[in-house]
Amino acid sequence: MTIIDGKEVAAKLRKEIAADVKDWKEQGNRPPHLVAILVGNDGASQTYVGHKERACSEVGFRSTVLRFEADITEEFLLGEIAKLNADPEVDGFIVQLPLPKHISEQRINEAIDFRKDVDGFTPVNTGRMMLGLPAYLPATPDGILELLKHYKIETAGKHCVVIGRSNIVGRPIANLLSQKGWDCTVTICHSRTKDLASVVRTGDIVIAALGKAEFVTADMIKEGAVVIDVGITRVPSDKTKSGWKLLGDVKFDEVAPKCSYITPVPGGVGPMTIISLMKNTLKAAHKEVL
Ligand code: NAP
Repeated sequence: MTIIDGKEVAAKLRKEIAADVKDWKEQGNRPPHLVAILVGNDGASQTYVGHKERACSEVGFRSTVLRFEADITEEFLLGEIAKLNADPEVDGFIVQLPLPKHISEQRINEAIDFRKDVDGFTPVNTGRMMLGLPAYLPATPDGILELLKHYKIETAGKHCVVIGRSNIVGRPIANLLSQKGWDCTVTICHSRTKDLASVVRTGDIVIAALGKAEFVTADMIKEGAVVIDVGITRVPSDKTKSGWKLLGDVKFDEVAPKCSYITPVPGGVGPMTIISLMKNTLKAAHKEVL
């Protein structure tokens, strides 16, 4: 059994991106520029945007955070997005979610020019991804693909069971793994799936993305399966200074001995997500998605 080390893979990719940026700048180009829009004072959002700023500086990108009060209007935000769409100094931008309730996340998402949509969430990018056209892939599914690639995990002809059908994880990863090149046979499970345990037991590759701590137990996993745990749930703990710890969707201790490969939480899929955003920003600077 191999424990997939997301931190190590992320560090390797970070180095590769930094080397690419160095070359790019030496050729006389300006550094790739990522802009993040942050509306309101949500603590978690501020932390995530801070991580993104740090990741940008580590690879040599320029980053800008546009901070707005929670009471701005949707029209104002749409105006800011139109400016970023048109700004030749901006390669890619993201709108940190959640937005205040009076602003429609869908309208904001649809206003982003897909050529700068480095989160890969706009309908145009989603469609392009499904058609196999050049697209910005959403960060978490892309991070999972990078892990499978790095560990040379065979996917062709394998049965992949994805638990969860969200637009940001379950459905895109299911779609990507069914495409030519990955060649999995994919089953998607969700909260209405009947006898989920029996379905999951048929998976050569199981991707758990449902957000229920330690939901996947050893009896649900076939001997030798590859298990990718996307879930992150914060639970109280008296063993940590902070008073909480993170759990995945998989009961790691009992599932791991049955697996050929497994991702831990933390340190598996998590560290890959921000690297995928950096990869997309580099693609944007290179104008790979047009
Ligand atoms: P989400 O939007 O809440 O979707 C959860 C999905 O799981 C839904 O499709 C839901 O089914 C399904 N589900 C819920 N309970 C189920 C059950 N008992 N049996 C079968 N299916 C069930 O979640 P998400 O945004 O995809 O995130 C999933 C987890 O991944 C969360 O813990 C999140 O924090 C984590 N996450 C981690 C990263 C990372 O970087 N590692 C990134 C993104 C998300 P229905 O559609 O039928 O409701």
